[in-house]
Amino acid sequence: MTTVSLVGSTGSIGTQAVEVLEAAPERFELVALGAGSSVERLAEQARRLRPKQVALADASRAGELEELVPPGTEVLAGEGALAEISRHADVVLNAVVGFAGLPVTLAALGAGRRLALANKESLIAAAPLVQAARATPGAEIVPVDSEHCALHQCLAAAGGRDRVRRLIVTASGGPFRGRRAEELAGVGVEEALAHPTWSMGPKITVDSSTLMNKGLEVIEAHELFGVPYDAIEVLIHPQSVVHSMVELVDGATLAQLSLPDMRLPIGYALGYPERLGTPFGAIDWARLARLEFELPDRRAFPCLDLAYRAGREGGDSPAWLNAANEVAVGAFLGGQLAWSDIAGVVEATLASRGPRPLASVGDVVEADAAARARAAQLVEARARGR
Ligand code: NAD
Ligand code: MG
Repeated sequence: MTTVSLVGSTGSIGTQAVEVLEAAPERFELVALGAGSSVERLAEQARRLRPKQVALADASRAGELEELVPPGTEVLAGEGALAEISRHADVVLNAVVGFAGLPVTLAALGAGRRLALANKESLIAAAPLVQAARATPGAEIVPVDSEHCALHQCLAAAGGRDRVRRLIVTASGGPFRGRRAEELAGVGVEEALAHPTWSMGPKITVDSSTLMNKGLEVIEAHELFGVPYDAIEVLIHPQSVVHSMVELVDGATLAQLSLPDMRLPIGYALGYPERLGTPFGAIDWARLARLEFELPDRRAFPCLDLAYRAGREGGDSPAWLNAANEVAVGAFLGGQLAWSDIAGVVEATLASRGPRPLASVGDVVEADAAARARAAQLVEARARGR
């Protein structure tokens, strides 16, 4: 039996992870669930799945949760609660959204656990610290992000890093693929949330519409696999069936294909190194009409190159990029910022300082807070100018 702690259990990845666990009850024992503030959904999961512990980041609602969980379930809440449930299971799935996932990533790796990582933001913002924590005996990251899960599989098949020429990270292109910069000025929240191939939480769905998600994934690939930025390319592939590719030195290309269904990469990361027996995402080849590829439009989607730039700068630049983006996306979803100003806010936030090294968790938290404050000012200035 593999024990599993599922953090961020009430979200899109979290609820799909529950389906994966329920499909293989003989392999997995769910020991802990954690969420931000969705008390009702978390309690409902606790009643159905009977974990030993439930954790809630929002301490003010702990009492409500206590009332709703089955007797004998330990309730943890507030700062440190999500980290606490991330230290004890064989596998910790980090499905929290945004920088808030950092304590989960650091706690799981620091305790020598296998981290099934959906929360790319923690790795990106705190890369030097996450790399150090990865060296803990027993610690390991298995990516849940579909592209990196594909790369993980292709790199294993490649059989050695000296055989790899480049990584090709695929992107659906999001709802605005094919539109020119001039056509994107007035797009609204509903349009940005209408993703053509994946159903995901709102933050990553907006990131997919700007290609910031792909930019973050380039940094994620660099950090996970140690491949230089010059050898990581992005290719638009609207069908989302080829999840990424590895080109080898002899010109051969390895790719991983499956239908766009996150339960496959979630199951891969939970079950690794074994394969699960439930074929989520299996392709019906007779119905798969075609696979198309095109280069990204870097002018219409400037977030992609902002991420490459921040990644190459290193230090605290990815933390600033991530924090500015979280603020800008939040403002867009809240109606305070135009979609086409998301990239501008991120760029101006990054331009307002010089990169600094990151040596401690305190440094990352400080960089994140400073970037958020700067980005919020820029959002406000744009709102006043409208
Ligand atoms: P979501 O918004 O659907 O769910 C987020 C989860 O995080 C919820 O359980 C919520 O309770 C929790 N949470 C939110 N704020 C929190 C806070 N401040 N403190 C603690 N917990 C908090 O998000 P999602 O789409 O499931 O994405 C989760 C992560 O997985 C993101 O990093 C995303 O980039 C990544 N990811 C998602 C998908 C997908 O298909 N949804 C695919 C690839 C990667
Ligand atoms: Mg992805």
